[in-house]
Amino acid sequence: MSALDLAGQHVTVAGLGVSGVPAARALAGLGAVVTVVNGSAGERERAQAAPLEELGITVRLGDGDTLPEGTDLVVTTPGWKPTSPLFQAAEAAGVPVWGDVELAWRMRGPDSPPWLAVTGTNGKTTTVRMLAAILEAEGLRTAAVGNIGVPLVDVVLSDEPYDVLAVELSSYQLHWAPSVRAHSATVLNLAPDHLDWHGSMEAYAADKGRIYEGNTVACVYNVADKATEDLVREADVEEGCRAIGFTLGTPGPSQLGVVEGILVDRAFVENRHQQAQELAEVSDVTPAAPHNIANALAAAALARAFGVSPRAVRDGLRAFHPDAHRIEHVADIDGVAYVDDSKATNTHATEASLAAYEHIVWIAGGLAKGATFDELVKKSAGRLRGAVLIGADRGLIREALARHAPDVPVVDLDRTDTGAMPEAVREAARLARPGDTVLLAPACASMDMYLNYNKRGEAFADAVRTLAAQEQ
Ligand code: ADP
Repeated sequence: MSALDLAGQHVTVAGLGVSGVPAARALAGLGAVVTVVNGSAGERERAQAAPLEELGITVRLGDGDTLPEGTDLVVTTPGWKPTSPLFQAAEAAGVPVWGDVELAWRMRGPDSPPWLAVTGTNGKTTTVRMLAAILEAEGLRTAAVGNIGVPLVDVVLSDEPYDVLAVELSSYQLHWAPSVRAHSATVLNLAPDHLDWHGSMEAYAADKGRIYEGNTVACVYNVADKATEDLVREADVEEGCRAIGFTLGTPGPSQLGVVEGILVDRAFVENRHQQAQELAEVSDVTPAAPHNIANALAAAALARAFGVSPRAVRDGLRAFHPDAHRIEHVADIDGVAYVDDSKATNTHATEASLAAYEHIVWIAGGLAKGATFDELVKKSAGRLRGAVLIGADRGLIREALARHAPDVPVVDLDRTDTGAMPEAVREAARLARPGDTVLLAPACASMDMYLNYNKRGEAFADAVRTLAAQEQ
């Protein structure tokens, strides 16, 4: 049973798509009179609208700006900017706006499972999956949900009696979710991203920081990223809730960290001033790149906050395998490793990726989304054997390389057709020496050349396999 009574209320859902459709269905299930509004009115939108209309939901395509007459509540999908005219109209009319996550939170019944919540600029999906694997290894009934692609509104009233949920939340979702109170939560890291949506870095950080509000057991922060610790300090939490740090170095009291290749816990042990509990080995984490060890420590901290045993942390991490296109090893050819990190769509992710290897031929480029590359190139210059640049904004990376790594050989590929990736891989192979890594970590979005980052990664892997077949 839902705790939320919306029977007869007029609710407007802003947007269709992966969260609008389930939100509209859930609202109809609660007896609300639902209207979905959506600016675009293409074939895809019409296909999404049809089954909703069969449920008695009104779908208004082609006008996402006007607030339907008599609206009592707006429920928005995450992509809509806070400055959208629809929200201005709602504010002027005194109509509340909730996000899909706020709706899900308010729909929870008295027996709903607690949430262990994860946000951050990079690493959310990986960490949430690791966390779910650890919770499962403990024998708990759980699911990885939220921004990961499983809508929370579908889960909170599910017949499945979950013990606990591993919840990924985006900054957009947090912006519209003022009531959510997690059992424990983490902000993995903070780097400029989505600033056009939030308006400023301060606003972006404040929305991320919302995840700590009202935590009951632990606020988990990244010792290496002071901004995350500041957010914990600013949060209004429940009495007794602890701040827990994770670090790639030796942990202090109330921290998890790494000592001689072992992940250790100095937070959830009886005597944290004298004791440390061994959790797992660095080699239990795949891939064992530094940023991914950080993700594992954050997942372990949340699990330990929930009372999970050290053994389940180890077993869960061993059972975890990353999603495709995230530092995915494709092949070794002539002593050179080929690695697909197509998901590295911003400079922060790419910096982590480049830090994981000693000698790299870097394949990069695409849509820069307003990013600059000087810092990234400065930090990574010493590791670069060479660079192969693709895509619309490759000139920005080329210029940064010329400024900060003038000795690194650069191949600039002036083509965006389907043959571009095979050529990029061949050029990279030419630059690489045995022991090197050819790394696709574009630091850019993919849409100038591919449908999405998956397709870009697949094109890379296909090209590598073709090369491997030719070399045999
Ligand atoms: P998200 O869900 O936040 O987009 P993912 O786990 O899907 O995160 O990883 C996205 C990208 O960020 C990948 O390219 C990965 O290599 C990189 N990445 C993962 N974890 C981190 C981290 N802790 N710090 C920096 N980059 C990371």
